[in-house]
Amino acid sequence: MDGPLTQRRHTILAIVIVCGMLCVGALWWFETRAGLISEMDRYGYPALLAIFATGLLASVLSPSHRSYVELGCYFGTGLYFIAAVTTFSIMQSGSNLYTVANTLQWMPILYIVAFIFFEKKRAIFAGLSVFLLSILAPLAVFATKGGQFWDVPLGALLINGYAVHLMVLLTLSLFIMLKDQFVQASELARKMESTAHTDQLTSIPNRRGLEAILDRYGEAPTQPVTLILLDIDHFKRVNDQFGHLTGDDVLCSTAKLIKRQLRPTDAIGRWGGEEFLIIAPDTDLQAGMSLADHLRRTVNASIHSVVGPVSFSAGLAVWADGRTLRDTLHLADRSLYEAKRQGRNRVEALDILTGRTFGNVISLSRLH
Ligand code: GH3
Ligand code: MG
Ligand code: MG
Repeated sequence: MDGPLTQRRHTILAIVIVCGMLCVGALWWFETRAGLISEMDRYGYPALLAIFATGLLASVLSPSHRSYVELGCYFGTGLYFIAAVTTFSIMQSGSNLYTVANTLQWMPILYIVAFIFFEKKRAIFAGLSVFLLSILAPLAVFATKGGQFWDVPLGALLINGYAVHLMVLLTLSLFIMLKDQFVQASELARKMESTAHTDQLTSIPNRRGLEAILDRYGEAPTQPVTLILLDIDHFKRVNDQFGHLTGDDVLCSTAKLIKRQLRPTDAIGRWGGEEFLIIAPDTDLQAGMSLADHLRRTVNASIHSVVGPVSFSAGLAVWADGRTLRDTLHLADRSLYEAKRQGRNRVEALDILTGRTFGNVISLSRLH
């Protein structure tokens, strides 16, 4: 299944093909009226229209084969140009300057289409092969008959036209190389940013990552955002008793366990050491308290294979009602302190008006 970018690329190319059909149709009509149409274009234009129409139809009927259909359209058009230049070169007397110039000036569109829509190797192959195949006949005539057999303006026009083609191909090749470097650089920047925002141990956002998530809310969120600051209880003992590696494993499994319980819109990150911050958007105090207590029970219930039961204490604050982020985090931190003070393995939210805390969803209406 193609990604959205590839889908868009196919759609744009289909639009380009439709525009190509309109141009060919207009040229056919105009040249026929003006008496400028060459013998070859009498068949060439309808053949081109048939190639484009077949290509569009095939893309609709078999979307999974669109890349081959596009390549088919490309080489069909390329074949038309190769045939045109070959005919003009071999039957020099019969060719008129208008048709030669006309053909030469349209050909670079084909190179541009290849470089924009095909991947690098295919683009270079497609562009160069049409260029080289179309130049074969003029070169052969020049080699066998010599320069004096060329009609002077026709020869000059061909040299001029092909010089432009070479320049276009060269510029497009340089462009595609620069584009590659740009894509690599942006990919590297994206990876570096993701590494800088991710905690290496737990693979969840680190403090910088959490700050970036909070930054997205700007000065204040439009809906209440619950912040839950949680800290694993007596974690030092875990390290002392079972070693740092087991401690690391407890951090990882707790982070994973909590993450699994959250909604896709929520976030959990490592605030530092054995402290985690949960960001729950569109969540008021009551919902936030139930969430925090649900997480507390879930962590309690999952027994670590080495350490046994693990618990955490959590402090909760709601970022809303004109409160700044800094104040909200400070409130969550004070609530966490209260949870520890009141015996650990509990969730607390501090009532800033009275200075009292309310644990595990009791009497919440008094808080806000
Ligand atoms: P409390 O219940 O009061 O939170 O007690 P505690 O022992 O959890 O808290 P304390 O702050 O005394 O100890 C936290 C410990 O967490 C100390 C530190 O070595 C350990 N720690 C911090 N980061 C890591 C880590 O990445 N891996 C491991 N294994 N331990 C860590
Ligand atoms: Mg701590
Ligand atoms: Mg702790």
